[in-house]
Order: sequence, then structure tokens, then C-alpha cells
Amino acid sequence: MKSIKKNIESDEIIWSNLKLRLKEIYGEAEYSNWLKLLTFSKIEKDVIVFYAPTKFMCDWILSHYGKKILSLWIEKNKSIKDISVHVYNDKESKEKNENFKKTNIKSDTDEFENNLDPRFTFKDFVVGKSNELAFSACRRVADSEDVPFNPLFLYGGVGLGKTHLMHAIAWQRKKLNPKLKILYLSAEKFMYEFIKALRLKNTVTFKEQFRSVNLLMIDDVQFIIGKESTQEEFFHTFNALADQNRQMVISADKSPSDLEGLEERLRSRLGWGLVADIHPTTYELRLSIIEAKIEKYNIDLSKDVIEFLAHKITSSVRELEGALTRLAAHVTLVGRNVDLEIAEDLLQDLLRASDRRTTIDQIQKKVAEHFNVKISDMHSARRSRTVARPRQIAMFLSKNLTTRSLPEIGRKFGGRDHTTVIHAIKKIQELVKNDSSLSEDIEILTRSLQS
Ligand code: ADP
Ligand code: MG
Repeated sequence: MKSIKKNIESDEIIWSNLKLRLKEIYGEAEYSNWLKLLTFSKIEKDVIVFYAPTKFMCDWILSHYGKKILSLWIEKNKSIKDISVHVYNDKESKEKNENFKKTNIKSDTDEFENNLDPRFTFKDFVVGKSNELAFSACRRVADSEDVPFNPLFLYGGVGLGKTHLMHAIAWQRKKLNPKLKILYLSAEKFMYEFIKALRLKNTVTFKEQFRSVNLLMIDDVQFIIGKESTQEEFFHTFNALADQNRQMVISADKSPSDLEGLEERLRSRLGWGLVADIHPTTYELRLSIIEAKIEKYNIDLSKDVIEFLAHKITSSVRELEGALTRLAAHVTLVGRNVDLEIAEDLLQDLLRASDRRTTIDQIQKKVAEHFNVKISDMHSARRSRTVARPRQIAMFLSKNLTTRSLPEIGRKFGGRDHTTVIHAIKKIQELVKNDSSLSEDIEILTRSLQS
């Protein structure tokens, strides 16, 4: 589910666009009297959850504007079914404010620090074979006064330390020279800010803000694939900074040449500097990471538990951390150390998830069963709609549920070309917009493949 969502506008963006629509519909005065006080919280299942300051306001807003908000939202996201408005409690409003601060991009010191995780420093990064190239490249960028390579492009799978390293560069550079203007943000945030600037007609400020920094870091740039105007703006920002010899650090889940769907000229520019990949962790690295973290969390784990974790939780450092915090919580709660049996018990779900990464073979099998076609039709050259459509759906799911590249997916489907895969994905994305039974099929398949 998570990966399918990638292609849908994020909820925050939907809400910020929707507010502008509401202002147009109801006028400035009515908007600031009521709607402005509405705070979007989250989408829970298929319900949009809002907060407002008092019970009276909740009821008023719901009865006067609820239907309109709901129908506008459904235009953007068909799976939404309802809307709810709750009274703020202090804790939530505080959290909301803090989150808001965290995602603000202004680059004065407060904002700078709010943007960065204090735990993500070089000191706390454990180096091993799989990440040493990326680590040394980042250190070079952080410690140099000039621009050693531009851009530094980091790539690797999720949870392997890309964001950690970028934050570490920012902390280190700032320490060496507190006057530097450093801007770190996700590509999603870049897009959000850009769209906002377009709407508010202050793209000039937007451009100035980005083009005056000494160090720009954009995380998860794969997010802007297919978002044409954002790509275009990013390309210009990139060029403007490169011309002034300002350092840029970019991350993505794939190398520039594998970022299919990204505009060619941007793709080639991204590969101009140093491209450093972070490989999946090795057993030895996982052992060292666990040892470093248990020292930090101050918990005691026996050798067999440590080895067990390093063997079993292999997909990412993030999962490994998740496992450790859970064990740490247990130790704190029951005041007793965990042995192997308890560890297995506490981590059941994580261990199962590790055993069960979805594969293209599983997807083909599930999809074939679901649509009652033969598995061999997934690889065959037959073009009749009855087999071609399920095949396209399987390609679409392979893209969303696995980390395989488009060429790899093409090969798994009877040696098809990656452009065929792109075509299939686009076709399905197109169809689900108006075909609710197809989008249900995809939902069901996704759920059963991930459960
Ligand atoms: P990515 O951005 O590549 O998805 P993150 O940088 O968010 O991954 O890393 C996920 C988590 O794992 C973070 O909490 C990070 O501190 C931790 N982590 C990743 N690699 C390492 C490492 N080599 N040493 C210590 N912690 C790491
Ligand atoms: Mg990241």
C-alpha cells in the first residue's frame, strides 16, 4: 500500500490546495472566521481527520462545510469516505506545531536544527564494507572548504543510512562554519514548496531562497519522477547552483542511470559528480551496528541474541533499530534481560516480514490466480486483453511492491523491454482513476501479497 501511495499527491498537499479552493468558494472573511481554524491531522482508514479549537466550532464546521470538503477531497482521492472533526487537545496541538516547525525550510539556525535529526551524526554512523565509499565521500564533502565533487549523489535501498549521512554532512559543515547557509529537504518538500510558491505567485522568492544557499541537499529525489514542472524547476535550481560552484548532495533509491522516468538532461547532470552507492548491509556490519546501538541504549544483550538478530533482520538498519528498541523496552518494563526465546517471541512479526519480502514470482502467481489465467501467460507473447491486462497489473505491482528496476521487471515478464513495463504501469495508473473495480482488485492483491 505504501508504495502505491507514492503516485498519489500527499495528503498535506491536497489539504493545502483545498484550502485555497475553499477560500475562493466562501470568500476571505468566512474562510478566516471558520475554515482557517481547522487543522488537518491525518487520514485514518478512509476518514479525513481534522481538529478545531472548540466543540461548537467542530459541529459548526462539520455541518456547514463538511460535505463540501469531503467532495473536494474525493476528487483528489477516491478512496476517502468520510470526514471527522475533533476538539484539539493541548498535546495534539503542540505536536502539530512542532511537526510544522520541523518541516519548515527556512534556513536560519532554529529552522536549520528543526530540520535535522541530532542523532544523525558521523560519530554515530557505523562504517563497514557496504557503506564505506558513501561514508568517505560524505566526509570529504563535509570537511572540504571547496567543492570536491558536484553533486555528490548517494543511492541505496531504504533504511540504509542515506538520510543519516546527509544530516551528518549538515551538522559537520555547520560546525566548521556556522555562517554557511545550508538547506536540507526532501524532494517531496521541495515540490510542496514549489507548488505553494506557484499558487501564491511568489516563485521569485522561492528561487532566491534556493539559489542563495552554500550547500543544498535534496533527499529521495526519485519522488519527483513524473512531476514535470517540479523536475523542471529542480533542474534550473541545480544548474544555477552548479554554475556558482555551490555544493549539492542528492539522494535517491537508485543510481541516476536507473532512475527511469526522470528527464534525460537532469539524469545525466545528476551523474556528473561522484555517484556513491550504499549496498545492503553485511552480517559483520549488522553485528557492529547492534553493538554500537546497545551501548547507546544501554541494554545488555547476550551474544546469541545479538547474532540471532544479525542473522535474521537483514533488510535494513531501520528494522534492526526497531527490533532493538523493542527489546530495550521489554528490558525496561520487566527489568529482566531477554534471552533468545523471548527475543524470538517479541520480534515474531519483524522476523516474519523479513522472511517474506514479496517477489515478482509471487506477484505473478497471485495475479494469475486472481484473474484465472495461466502463470505462463505472464511470460507469453499473447496480446489478447484477457491475458494482457493481468500481465500489466502484475508489472504494475512488481514496480510498487518490489525494489526491482524496470529492466529487471521486463526480463521477468518474458524478456520484455523496460519501455513495455513503463507503458503497462502508466496504463494501469490511468485505468484505476476511473475503474473502481480495477482499483479494488489492485487493493486486494496488494494486501494479500503484503500480509
Ligand atoms: P535511508 O535514508 O537510507 O532510508 P536512514 O538514514 O533514514 O535510511 O537510516 C535509517 C535508520 O538507520 C536511521 O535511524 C539511521 O540512524 C540508522 N542507520 C542506518 N545506517 C546506519 C549505520 N551505518 N550506522 C548507524 N546507524 C545507521
Ligand atoms: Mg531517507
